This record gives sequence, C-alpha cells and structure tokens, in this order.
Amino acid sequence: QAKTQGRGILRFFSPEMGLRAKHRLTLEAELRQALERSELHVYYQPQVDLISGEIIGLEALVRWQHPERGLVPPGEFIPLAEESGLVVPLGDWVLRETCRQIKQWTESGLAPRQTAVNISAVQLSRGHLVESIKEVLAETGIAPQQLELEITESFVIVDRDQSFKALAELKALGIRLSIDDFGTGYSSLGYLQQLEVDKLKVDISFVRNMTTNMGSASIVKAVIALGHSLGLEVIAEGVEDAGQARYLRSLRCDVMQGYLISRPMPAEETTRFLASFQPTRIPVDNEAMSTL
Ligand code: C2E
Ligand code: MG
Ligand code: MG
Ligand code: MG
Repeated sequence: QAKTQGRGILRFFSPEMGLRAKHRLTLEAELRQALERSELHVYYQPQVDLISGEIIGLEALVRWQHPERGLVPPGEFIPLAEESGLVVPLGDWVLRETCRQIKQWTESGLAPRQTAVNISAVQLSRGHLVESIKEVLAETGIAPQQLELEITESFVIVDRDQSFKALAELKALGIRLSIDDFGTGYSSLGYLQQLEVDKLKVDISFVRNMTTNMGSASIVKAVIALGHSLGLEVIAEGVEDAGQARYLRSLRCDVMQGYLISRPMPAEETTRFLASFQPTRIPVDNEAMSTL
C-alpha cells in the first residue's frame, strides 16, 4: 500500500522530515514550559483614527522570548500551539495579561477605546472561551467594550455551530468583534450579518501593494465599501509609509495600524508611547480622491 503512494511516502520518511518532526516536538515541549517560565510576553501595537489622528485602539500580540533561540515569532509557534491544543491555555494567558494591562491603563487614564486580542479558531471551538472571558472581566473589572476579539475567517470551517454560539454569547456580553486578515480566507460573507461584527481588518498583503497594484487597490476599496455599507469600522493593517496613510484617508478608511505609527512594543514602552503621543492629522491624497 505504501508503494502505491509513491513519492509522498518517500518524502515522509526522509531524514530531513525526521529532523523537522523532532524540532517540532522539541519546540512543542518547550512551549509547554514557556508559560510557567514566564517566557511569553504581550506586545502592543497602536491603531490610529485616520481623521482625528488619535490612538483609538491597541492590538495585543504575543511574543516568545526563548532562552537560547531568542525571540520566536508567533507565526512559528501559534500554528504549533493550535495543533497541540496548547493555544487554549496560551490564549487564556494572553487574555488575562492583556485585561490586567487594560485595567492599569484605565486607572492611569491612558487606555484607548479598546484593545484587541487575537483568538484562534481552536479556542472558539474547543475551549471554554466564554467562561474564561467572563472570569477575566470580573477579576479585572474592565468594561466588556474595552475588549475586542480578532478572529479570522477560518473560524467558520473549524466548528461552525459551536463557534457561532460562543461568539454570540460574547457579543451579548458587550465584547467587540473584529475580522482579521479580511479577504484572505473562506468568506461566505453571510457570517458578517449573522454575527454582530464591529470591524473589518484589511489584510497587510492588500495594503502593501495598493499604491502600486490596481488589483490590490480595488480590493481595499471593495472592503471599505462593504464594511461601511454594513455599518462596520474598517481598519488597514501594515501601513508603513505616509503615502499609504494619505491614500487610505482618501478612500475613507477609518483606522490604520502599522510601522508608520509604531512597531508592536512591550507594555512599559506602550505606556510611555500612550502618554506622550501627539495626534497629527493625515492630509488627503487629492490624486487618489480624483480616481475614486
Ligand atoms: P495578525 O493578527 O494579522 O497581526 C498583524 C501582524 O502584522 C503582526 O505580526 C504585526 O507585528 C505585523 N505588522 C504590524 N504592522 C506591520 C507593518 O507595518 N509591516 C509589516 N510587515 N508587518 C506589520 P506578528 O506579531 O508576528 O503576529 C503574526 C500573527 O500571529 C498575527 O497576525 C496573529 O495571527 C498571530 N498572533 C499573534 N499574537 C497572537 C495571540 O496572542 N494569539 C493568537 N491566537 N494568535 C496570535
Ligand atoms: Mg490580529
Ligand atoms: Mg491580520
Ligand atoms: Mg494573520
């Protein structure tokens, strides 16, 4: 039977594959310990209103400071955490840590309108997410409206019914809901109506190319139009230069996030950033306006 599968099987048993599997297992075991050893940290990246120029939100992004490997990016360990189920305790930790931080910023008058936490489809389908969030809200005393959850469209394919139920309960609590990487997943779009989504995040890949590629520009315009016609806020991620900010402002995009404002920062640095930030108005791009 193995023979009939030919090359695929050969590749499966290749030494390189064995190494990768071993590396994965090691990484997984280390990730398991990372939580207890306080190697995980939450960084925050500001979101700026394109009209007022003010910070209206933050996104919490997890970081793993590995003792030997250095900073391991979430793109490397989140998928592993999802496959092993570790994303459930990891996600709970990120939520609690972020809500405690929101509480501190609220007490010092620095908290922006909301702070977003990325939620994996696995947390929604298998976890006890609603219970965890209720607990954390009670423990920290922050308002549910201060917390936003970012989910990707993949939640519809994992366990649709369970996920919808959890999200509806969270919405009923007053939590905000945002669709991350919008336009890159499996969108039937119907879920935008069934769930009370508050915000669409235009994916980095479209934003990166929108000023040079007409196709990307068309997608950005379409997402903004769709979002606004459904009464949703639209945020562009990955904004790196002032030209992109002006272009987005001209397209009437609501909010931006990206290196232009700041890279994701540790909590203490974010506190200083929030305390010293001076809003600057973004001018419109007349050329972009004329092609609308
Ligand atoms: P995401 O939620 O779409 O986050 C945006 C990513 O874009 C972040 O990468 C951020 O650092 C990066 N970014 C922001 N502005 C710019 C920019 O101007 N240019 C470029 N090139 N990149 C920019 P990061 O922090 O490496 O996170 C990658 C992904 O890992 C996230 O994508 C999210 O899907 C996942 N992730 C991060 N933290 C968590 C978490 O706590 N839980 C879960 N489940 N997933 C997380
Ligand atoms: Mg996100
Ligand atoms: Mg994204
Ligand atoms: Mg992503």
